[in-house]
Amino acid sequence: MGCFSRLTLFYPDDYQENVFLINYRKLAETGIKVLFIDLDNTLIPYDEKEPSAEHNTLFQKFKELGLSVVIISNNRHGRVVHFANLLGLPYIENARKPCRSGFKRAWALFPKMGKNEIMVIGDQVMTDVLGAKRMGFQVTLVNAIKRESERWYTRLNRKIEHLILRRIKQKDPDYYEQLNLKEKR
Ligand SMILES: [Mg+2]
Repeated sequence: MGCFSRLTLFYPDDYQENVFLINYRKLAETGIKVLFIDLDNTLIPYDEKEPSAEHNTLFQKFKELGLSVVIISNNRHGRVVHFANLLGLPYIENARKPCRSGFKRAWALFPKMGKNEIMVIGDQVMTDVLGAKRMGFQVTLVNAIKRESERWYTRLNRKIEHLILRRIKQKDPDYYEQLNLKEKR
């Protein structure tokens, strides 16, 4: 399990309360051109499936800023395609994060992009952050929208996530403070 051996593989580059509070203009100015955004509990909770007016505004803003988007989710069974199609976005379902395969499929949609031009956004340290870091992408961690509707395997990941965040707090208190990771839900 070589990929789990280095704690820094679990360090997000940024942490924000939710996807609507990320400063996308700043990201675009620093050279980010593509966003790989997780679906469940990042854009919508598990028990919802439609994008809201707020989502429409957000994705319009991405267009204005010249940011391309791919929805990248470990989920499948039509949920990912349904959401992505309503917004006219490309998507990767059954992505198997934190494995690299799904990220590689998403990256293949933008073959000219360097890894430093891609940012991953997601709510889970064990899938989104670890997967992004293994690929060498930057990653913004957000809070889960609604923890109550999470499945057993996500609850298990949350337990490990909690331990990892605690470890980061011990090993790297300045970084932990700076990103305000104590607020992570
Ligand atoms: Mg998620």
